[in-house]
Amino acid sequence: MSLSLAKELNPLNTEPQAESRRLSTPNPKKNPPSKEHEMIVVMEQGASDAQIQHVAQLIRELGLTDHIIKGTERTVIAAIGDDRAKNKENLETVPGVEKVMPVLAPYKMASREVKKERSVVPLGGTLGASAGGKKVCLIAGPCSVESRPQLLNCAQAVKAAGATALRGGAFKPRTSPYAFQGMGEEGLKILAEARDLTGLAVVTEIMAVDQIDLVCKYADVLQVGARNMQNYNLLWAVGDTRKTVLLKRGLSATLEEFMLAAEYIMSKGNPNVILCERGIRTFETYCRNTLPLAIVPEVHRISHLPIVIDPSQGTGHAHLVPDMCKAAIAAGADGLIIEAHDDPEHALTDGAQSITPKTLKEMMVTLRKIATAVDREI
Ligand code: PEP
Ligand code: MN
Repeated sequence: MSLSLAKELNPLNTEPQAESRRLSTPNPKKNPPSKEHEMIVVMEQGASDAQIQHVAQLIRELGLTDHIIKGTERTVIAAIGDDRAKNKENLETVPGVEKVMPVLAPYKMASREVKKERSVVPLGGTLGASAGGKKVCLIAGPCSVESRPQLLNCAQAVKAAGATALRGGAFKPRTSPYAFQGMGEEGLKILAEARDLTGLAVVTEIMAVDQIDLVCKYADVLQVGARNMQNYNLLWAVGDTRKTVLLKRGLSATLEEFMLAAEYIMSKGNPNVILCERGIRTFETYCRNTLPLAIVPEVHRISHLPIVIDPSQGTGHAHLVPDMCKAAIAAGADGLIIEAHDDPEHALTDGAQSITPKTLKEMMVTLRKIATAVDREI
């Protein structure tokens, strides 16, 4: 084999034995060793703040970006960037450092390799809403904000049913340019009023980078919709904020692409990401999308981030929503985001997949039992 071909096949020039050792991870084909050799520095239990800051400083001196991740037991510091020429092993001798390890997954900050315990991500509002803890979060509300009375009524009804967060789009990504595009800032103001009235956290979609300041002014959680999962400028922009981001899976995105989209946000220093499965496009036609619930345990295996399920976009039919909520909680989902409308027949968007607050309240009885069975609460 020529030297250049050998280099192409093995650009890092790693010895075959070391390569096969690294490849003996659970999913070798999906997680090839990164060319950039990102690593994590695992600090000893009880390492002091000064020691942590010192290691972060050394990482920056190596020309890498440091991300400090504080766990309940110990702190790890991810060092991201191209470090091929750097001697990272030196860090192992620094006081307070337990070990230095490569991160094999292509996503780093989102990976379980970097943080073993599940992240609990705050949603906002005054009801203590969060995703990723023992309590399964319930985010409910209409697809779109349509009017002040509609939204305020709906907010009160979903709160009475047990929701701690309110959804409602003010900027709507519509397939047709002639369809209702949302109320814009007026809709955001109504959402904020609903939060003041009820304490519910407000979750609403952001569609473009130039909407950041406006949406951040009113919302607690920025929803990045399925169509924007690969809008990398938008991912970076929401990563620059410190608002919680509800990141929806793209219509045809693989799980790895989904995780890398989360990585875009987290690599900017925003750790507050909630993943949302909302169904993918398949050949199937009986439902609007196909809702792959196996993603829930798989995300928990590979990541510390919470994952919530959207059975409304996920099925497209209100009659399928309650059973998919049950299945999602049984599978270990950290939350549900559900479209609820008190007059679905007249809804301006997604009426067919919207349940009524009455149905929401009724199904909560069963959801509570299922949550208890899997050692959760709702
Ligand atoms: C929605 O939540 O109403 C929506 C448009 O979602 P998605 O981006 O998942 O299609
Ligand atoms: Mn919708």
